[in-house]
Amino acid sequence: MKRFDYYQPESLKEAFKLMEKLKGDALYVAGGTDVIVRIKQKAIEPEALISLRGVEELKEIRENGGLSLGAGVLFREIEGSGQIRQQFQALHEAACVLANPQIRNVATVGGNLCNAAPSADSAPPLLILEAEVELEGPGGKRKMMLEDLFTGPGQTAKEPEEVMTRIIIPAQGMNTGTAFMKIGRVSQDIAIANAAALVSLEEGVCNKCRLAVGAVAPVPLRLKSIEEKIEGQKIEEELLQEVEKMVCEAVSPITDVRSTAEYRRAVSGVLVKRAIRQAAARAQQ
Ligand SMILES: Cc1cc2nc3c(=O)[nH]c(=O)nc-3n(C[C@H](O)[C@H](O)[C@H](O)COP(=O)(O)OP(=O)(O)OC[C@H]3O[C@@H](n4cnc5c(N)ncnc54)[C@H](O)[C@@H]3O)c2cc1C
Repeated sequence: MKRFDYYQPESLKEAFKLMEKLKGDALYVAGGTDVIVRIKQKAIEPEALISLRGVEELKEIRENGGLSLGAGVLFREIEGSGQIRQQFQALHEAACVLANPQIRNVATVGGNLCNAAPSADSAPPLLILEAEVELEGPGGKRKMMLEDLFTGPGQTAKEPEEVMTRIIIPAQGMNTGTAFMKIGRVSQDIAIANAAALVSLEEGVCNKCRLAVGAVAPVPLRLKSIEEKIEGQKIEEELLQEVEKMVCEAVSPITDVRSTAEYRRAVSGVLVKRAIRQAAARAQQ
């Protein structure tokens, strides 16, 4: 493994100064569960790592009707939050099945999104919750919809010197349920496919639906045309069968060490169907 320098700033200002001084040879690191693995694999060879773990403001969880989640919040904290379990169940479920307790003790939600793996487990739940992300760099702050962050496998619209500071989740309406589903080779594994659904019901009819899938396209994907198909309808088995077929047609999976493309395609339809069923049942409660 190539040697690298390691810096531990205590503020964003200090982190930006370091990044400027190191002129693009440095990489931010949070929990390191992606970065260190990639360095060990020699997939990346940064001259320096700038740790964000000492930056307190990235660790805040704030209620503001919805939720403001610091990018440095650990999956272990999401798993343990009663508020997230009650109000944003799909995100809670994703946190509970991401990797294993040892990884969840250090891995951050910001790291999961900035790493931009198509299989990132936090992406589908945050996409259906219509989360925004806040990015801050030496030039100031900007916000974008999470959906616009992902530009390709491992690629984002974030500039290298920018830090993701928070993830902003709007409040959810009444009679709304969410659910997350994942299939891996074994439990605790990176997803073969994952999916999340949000369903709002009014007098038994779906008036809002949000769907997202992961590991079946170059980026975590919102399924907007399928959402439109569901809105205005009752969630019944006949509709769900049709949705399953539409999902299989909408995705563009690859074959890799975890699965064939054919299996991913088939299973993504099943996962979305189950997630809608679960979200609708929760919306009724
Ligand atoms: C054994 C194992 C199992 C795993 N299983 C899963 C799984 O089931 N599901 C899953 O989704 N992932 C899984 N992962 C991947 C990984 O744990 C997650 O993606 C994790 O959330 C990454 O967070 P981190 O804080 O460790 O990121 P890091 O490794 O520190 O960083 C990841 C990337 O994000 C950038 N970054 C981090 N934080 C910020 C920030 N605030 N602003 C700007 N850039 C930032 C870094 O520069 C780097 O490019 C697994 C990894 C391992 C090693």
